[in-house]
Amino acid sequence: MRIAIPTEIKNNEFRVAITPSGVHDLVAHGHEVLVQSGAGAGSSIADESFASAGATILPDAESTWAAGELVLKVKEPIPEEYRHFRDDLVLFTYLHLAADERLTRALQQAGVTAIAYETVQLQGGALPLLAPMSEVAGRLAPIVGANVLLKPSGGRGLLVPGVPGTHPAKITVLGGGVAGTAALQVSLGLGAEVTVLDTNLARLRELDALHFGRVKTIASNSFEIEKAVVESDLVIGSVLIPGARAPKLVTNALVKRMKEGSVLVDIAVDQGGCFEDSHPTTHADPVFTVHRSLFYCVANMPGAVPNTSTYALTNATLPFVRSVAGQGWKDAMRGDPALARGLNVFAGDVVNEPVAAAHGLAH
Ligand code: NAD
Repeated sequence: MRIAIPTEIKNNEFRVAITPSGVHDLVAHGHEVLVQSGAGAGSSIADESFASAGATILPDAESTWAAGELVLKVKEPIPEEYRHFRDDLVLFTYLHLAADERLTRALQQAGVTAIAYETVQLQGGALPLLAPMSEVAGRLAPIVGANVLLKPSGGRGLLVPGVPGTHPAKITVLGGGVAGTAALQVSLGLGAEVTVLDTNLARLRELDALHFGRVKTIASNSFEIEKAVVESDLVIGSVLIPGARAPKLVTNALVKRMKEGSVLVDIAVDQGGCFEDSHPTTHADPVFTVHRSLFYCVANMPGAVPNTSTYALTNATLPFVRSVAGQGWKDAMRGDPALARGLNVFAGDVVNEPVAAAHGLAH
C-alpha cells in the first residue's frame, strides 16, 4: 500500500506521524512510504533520515496527499487541508470529531474513510493511542511544576529535592491513572515527598505495591483532598471520568488557603480542568495567578516535547498502521475490534455512535 505522511500545518504542531524506524518497518513489509519534505523538521528528523530508511520524499502537501492511499497524520485536518479529501482516501489521525462539526461534514461530503486514534479502544476500555500522550503530559507535569516553583518564575523559591538537611517539596497527584502514575514516578525521581489520591482503590493497591514506602496512597474524597492540597507545594491534577467533564476537585476557596507561591498543574484541563479556576493556556503564556498560587494549564503539553512525543506516538500507532496497510482497513477491522472502534466516518456516514450523537445523527 502507498502510505503518505504530510507535514503538520496546525499552529504550533511540531510532531510528525512517522519515524525513520516506522518507515523502515513498513517498507520491510512491502509498502511504499511517501513523506513530505520537511515533515520531520519540528521533531529533529531530517528528510535524509526518512530517505535512508526507505521513504520517498515528496516536495509539497499536494503531491503527498495525492500519492497516499493511506494518509497518516497527528492532528485533525484544518480547513486548508480539506481540499485534499477524496473518496478513495483512508485517513488515520487524531480527529476529535465530536467537537468539530465542520470537519465531520467535510469528511462526510468527500466520502473519506476516517479512523480516529482517540477512539481506538481495547477490551476493558483502555485507549492505546491516547495513553502515550498521557504518559508524556504526566512525566512533564512535575518538571514544569518544579520550574514554576523557582523564585524567578514567581514560585515559592523551592528546590524540589531540597538538599541534605532541608525538606523536599510536597507533591500531591490527584488521579493515579496513566498520566498520574507517570507524574508520580517523575516526582519521586526528583526527590519529592509524594501523595497520590484516587477513587479507585484497586489502582491505589497497584501503586502501593510498586512504590511501597515511597508514595502515600490515599482514597480520594473532599476531606482528604483538602488536607493534602493545603500542605502541598505542587498539586498535579490528572483525573479523568471517561466521556465526562473533569470533576472540580480543588475549589477557589481551597486555593486561597494554599501556601504563597505554591503551584498547580492541571493536566486534565483538556477535559475542562479539575481545579475550579483552571482555564486552558498555551506554551507561549502558560501560567496565571489565583490568590497567591500559580496555575499551569497548557492543554497541549506534549507539544513542548515533540521529539519524545513523535516517537511515543509512532510506537503506539505502528502496529495498527501495519495491519491496515497489510490487510486493508476492512479486513484489519474484522480481525481487531479495538481498531474497528476507531472507524468514525465511512462513505458519508458517521459510524461512531458518540460522535454521531454529538452531531444529532444517532442511528
Ligand atoms: P486515566 O483514566 O488513565 O486516569 C484517570 C484517573 O482518575 C483514574 O485512575 C480514575 O480512577 C481517577 N479519578 C477519577 N475521579 C477521581 C477523583 N474524584 N479523585 C481522584 N481520582 C479520580 O486517564 P489519563 O490517561 O491519565 O488522563 C488524565 C487526563 O489527562 C485526561 O483528562 C486527559 O485528557 C488529560 N491529558 C492531558 C494532556 C495535556 O496536554 N494537558 C495530555 C494527555 C492527557
